Amino acid sequence: MQRTQSEKLHNEAVTHIVGGVNSPSRSYKAVGGGAPTVMARAQGAYFYDVDGNKYIDYLAAYGPIITGHAHPHITKALTKAAENGLLYGTPTEHEIQFAKMLKEAIPSMDKVRFTNSGTEAVMTTIRVARAYTGRTKMLKFAGCYHGHSDLVLVAAGSGPATLGTPDSAGVPKTIAEEIITVPFNDPESFKEAMDKWGPELAGILVEPIVGNFGMVEPNPGFLETVHELAKDYGTLVIYDEVITAFRFHYGAASTLLGLEPDLTALGKIIGGGLPIGAYGGKKEVMDQVAPNGPAYQAGTMAGNPASIQTGIACLEILKQPGVYEELDRLGALLEQGILEAASQYNVTITINRIKGALSIYFTNVKVENYDQAEASDGEQFAQFFRLMLAQGINLAPSKYEAWFITTAHTEQDIEQTIQAVHRAFEQMSQ
Ligand code: PMP
Repeated sequence: MQRTQSEKLHNEAVTHIVGGVNSPSRSYKAVGGGAPTVMARAQGAYFYDVDGNKYIDYLAAYGPIITGHAHPHITKALTKAAENGLLYGTPTEHEIQFAKMLKEAIPSMDKVRFTNSGTEAVMTTIRVARAYTGRTKMLKFAGCYHGHSDLVLVAAGSGPATLGTPDSAGVPKTIAEEIITVPFNDPESFKEAMDKWGPELAGILVEPIVGNFGMVEPNPGFLETVHELAKDYGTLVIYDEVITAFRFHYGAASTLLGLEPDLTALGKIIGGGLPIGAYGGKKEVMDQVAPNGPAYQAGTMAGNPASIQTGIACLEILKQPGVYEELDRLGALLEQGILEAASQYNVTITINRIKGALSIYFTNVKVENYDQAEASDGEQFAQFFRLMLAQGINLAPSKYEAWFITTAHTEQDIEQTIQAVHRAFEQMSQ
């Protein structure tokens, strides 16, 4: 496969844009380096790069593109929004319509507020939880990503109930010490942390189904324990559903699991491809937010007509009957095909799949927490990634990212992908 134009553009990009990318996960650093593929166009399930190569896309822009690229219903909504003026700085009727749609799908949210990204949404839920409880400390689970605000860019301490250390230069140690990190799916460590820090905790940040060290479901009872102890200590439970909301069904992971967080952060899918975030929760908690309450959050672009109207259009598509059943059916076919290829060529893998989202780990253990995901073979993943790319299958360049099937993928795309997996595993087994 010719990649000269991608390489040429990347060489130029690095002199103007840090690392040649506008988000570090787009670089190929985690898969051995080199020029990331520079895409020129995207349509449905396909990408076309600047060298004229075509790819079946499973990146889906790290999640938002669940209806496939350039879906006509979303494009139409965007065009209409643009024709009527891109930004008002005043309330619009569409904002109310969209807020009502989100509330209907996620009833634990009495009120919502729109932001421009998932990072902003999560960052603000932390502020709101602190304002509501009058406490400062937070708890998160190891390996979960909650955006790039200071408090959540923090690595796990060495034990289950230790304070965090900065995971990024520029995050002050004093801020990192305000967050406690415990392993996901480990109720004992969680209880230990709550015994020690419970009374000081404003909130617990949870990806109720993890999407950031592959797709990992909570073990039965784990989230229930989180909710119970949080209640005992007067700590708020915040679900970060930036990846999970509208991913598995028309609603959030909370509604799928039958659990009620105090606050929910949203992003990605709810913008239909345009920048967006949102957070919402119980009325008395949300009323902490300005202008009703003392917790400040704002945004010139927040609730902009384009993001709101593409978001509405995206949810309209997802609300159609059969959408999630089809994503599940294609997901199951893909999973089965990959497992068969692995068995044929003796490649050791574990697959975690929930409906149309799946992750492959090169490991022989079941992956339930970050340590297990981290221990999976990164070099094997890198080799697999490159072998797939060379056959026109675009995956995220990281062993921690999921594959996302979209409503635009067909059974033929899945079959073609499975054939490519066969050839990749065959080469890897030699
Ligand atoms: N929370 C989760 C669970 C995420 O996966 C992400 C992005 N991958 C974020 C928050 C941050 O969202 P954004 O990139 O829109 O700021």
